[in-house]
Amino acid sequence: MKALLVIFDGLGDRPVKQLGYKTPLQVAEKPNLDKLSVTGIKGIMDTIAPGVRPGSAPAHLAIFGYDPYKYYTGRGIFEALGMGLDVREGDVVFRFNFATVDEEMRVVDRRAGRIKRYTEDLAEALNTIEIPGVELIFKEAVEHRGVLVLRGEGLSWKVSDVDPGKTGFKVKMCKPLDGSLEALRTAEIVNKVVAESYKVLKDHWVNKDRISRGLPPANIILPRGASISTKVKGFKERYKLRAYCVAGGTLYKGVAKFVGMEVLNVPGATGTYGTDYDAKVHAAVRALKDGDFVYLHFKPTDLAGEDGDFRRKVDIIQRIDKALEPIISLEDTLVVITGDHSTPCSIKTHSADPVPIMICGEEVRRDGVKGFDEISAARGGLSRIRGLHLMPIILDLMNLTEKYGA
Ligand code: ZN
Repeated sequence: MKALLVIFDGLGDRPVKQLGYKTPLQVAEKPNLDKLSVTGIKGIMDTIAPGVRPGSAPAHLAIFGYDPYKYYTGRGIFEALGMGLDVREGDVVFRFNFATVDEEMRVVDRRAGRIKRYTEDLAEALNTIEIPGVELIFKEAVEHRGVLVLRGEGLSWKVSDVDPGKTGFKVKMCKPLDGSLEALRTAEIVNKVVAESYKVLKDHWVNKDRISRGLPPANIILPRGASISTKVKGFKERYKLRAYCVAGGTLYKGVAKFVGMEVLNVPGATGTYGTDYDAKVHAAVRALKDGDFVYLHFKPTDLAGEDGDFRRKVDIIQRIDKALEPIISLEDTLVVITGDHSTPCSIKTHSADPVPIMICGEEVRRDGVKGFDEISAARGGLSRIRGLHLMPIILDLMNLTEKYGA
């Protein structure tokens, strides 16, 4: 028995007035999900806990069976892993923005005009910075974003952000957030890094060129969201499952790597509206031949929720449903469909509304609930579960759990 876990990011929603007080998932025509729903059990899931608005990374950790309150320190580590950086145990990882400051270190543009090109050249220059006793790795990401890794002894992730969060304010000093020597030392290092970044970047040819074209120079980096890399028992060790991930966004690839999944490179999988849905589904089905567990992630449902575009959310659900056709006929495979949190179009952000979930397969009880949406799923036989309950339930349905007691 194998398992396919399909996550529609931000799937859950609230009633939309213009849709007759139905949710996008209720309104969407989804013949494949409807067909699948007949063969399984449905319910709703609080991925972290009732009333907690989950971030995508902690929600995914919980769904994979890793308590987010224990394993989540910040987003940076997952971004770094998802970008393919060699992150080691104990590394302290920050996300940063390339930004624009004036000579008094006042932030003029937090995103350096959303710089799009040549950030790899800027990162290369940053990688020449040397601070005794610590190894530094700078890596550019999409547009103005990047990741900074601090490697060495005596570091801590309990330090404050440098990014003031608004323009017109001076770059903040990084401060220790607890009384430890490690946090004090890390804060000092970060402050040196920020000062050095200005020295290295201000006269860089990329910035001279930008200034000559009237664009804001990317003349500093503003680190934030310190997190620490910890080692966990991955899927293989913990569940005895060979697991694969098919996702477009770096954050999701990173969480998958963190829990020991092998991340597949699927051309066209972008984590944006333009992602290649069919290529992803085909890659997931192929991965099931070799793997025991495949995690397939779709981001655009969340993007439409954050844009407040309920019609687009309906369209995307329909598009994914169409792409999912090959999974309807899978044999000896448990198919799980759910979301990592709700992203209601009315509030354009994550909410704590539980997400619908269905678990389908030959051996799964059929609860008689047809269709798949927030309202009908709540009437299903799975009732209301937490994210951390999901992996034990999947493992049991795969007959991989052991009896408790005699
Ligand atoms: Zn999410």
